[in-house]
Amino acid sequence: MAGPILTADRLQRRVARLPRVDLAHLPTPLEEVPRFAEAIGPVRVLIKRDDCTGLLLGGNKARHNEFLMADALYEGCDTVIWGAGLQSNNCRQTAAACAKLGLDCRLYLSKSHYKREIQGNLLLDYLVGAKVELVDAEIGPELDALLAAKADEARAQGKRPYVWDRSRVVPRAAISYTLCLAEIMQQMHAMDLRPDAVYVSSAGSTGAGLALGKAVLGLNCPVRSICPMTWPWDIPEALAQTANEAAALLDLPHRLRASDIDATTEYIGPGYGKPSQDGLEAMHLLATMEGILLEPTYTAKAMAALVADVRSGKLAPGSVVVFIHTGGLPAVFVDPTQLLAGIHGEVPRIDSTDANS
Ligand SMILES: *Cc1c(COP(=O)(O)O)cnc(C)c1O
Repeated sequence: MAGPILTADRLQRRVARLPRVDLAHLPTPLEEVPRFAEAIGPVRVLIKRDDCTGLLLGGNKARHNEFLMADALYEGCDTVIWGAGLQSNNCRQTAAACAKLGLDCRLYLSKSHYKREIQGNLLLDYLVGAKVELVDAEIGPELDALLAAKADEARAQGKRPYVWDRSRVVPRAAISYTLCLAEIMQQMHAMDLRPDAVYVSSAGSTGAGLALGKAVLGLNCPVRSICPMTWPWDIPEALAQTANEAAALLDLPHRLRASDIDATTEYIGPGYGKPSQDGLEAMHLLATMEGILLEPTYTAKAMAALVADVRSGKLAPGSVVVFIHTGGLPAVFVDPTQLLAGIHGEVPRIDSTDANS
């Protein structure tokens, strides 16, 4: 992890050299959750409320898009071509950014993994005017190739597309989380605290950016990426590479190796997008102790890891733990029956005879 240690302030000035558009409500609050912490063990827990970034109901893609949409505008693009799963938080926040910036938004959403209902993120995509096409391609290399082909088609139509090209987009998005870690450190400094561990749900830009931030800011504590999914490639290798590409974009000499990345796929449970029992338990506990909601695909699984590490003693008593809430809340509306059944073991009956009267 060679390279000089920068203050949060100096890192922010370095990042200010890059094109950026104002999309997110920043800084997001850093909120202590004492009732939740007391329920899980003798630690302090602070939640970085990136579910409150704005841009159509919050999440980590508001920060990402400040750099990505600036890149699109800088390149003179008029159309954004994006894709992911049917309930993609990424596509929902990108669609909102496009609406705000007057860019044409074309979304290609993979049908796999999700219930085909116009709810949650998909509903929001339509409401902000995105052009949506459902496709059979699987998330990953297959969908990446489809997006590249759609960009070629758009170019043939005389458009200037900005396409979700992994090699271009992922390191630029990561920078926003290097900056987020600086923001957290400033907030903690003002509270006279230092983190003993940071937890986040990520298998990509967000975790890579935080890992770079840890190196640049000289933070001496674990920054754990709890992966919501596996990829056809090695995740620590990919995150280190992304961090290094982000460092190069910032003209920073820091270079990370796979061994510098703390990532685990242990909490995926039954699969990407499928609720896990320990995730639902963590979600239930935070909701009922603090009135703060997580969602089953990403944040609940990351919180399950935090809870497990407190209970096993991996996090020492008295530790100050930061959990970054990356958002994703529209997903809770997609399958409410399954969600309630998973959390409470039963679904409440409501009398619907008066409906529409
Ligand atoms: C996209 C997303 C993540 C993961 O972000 P990456 O940068 O792709 O790792 C985590 N949580 C939520 C809610 C997300 O939407």
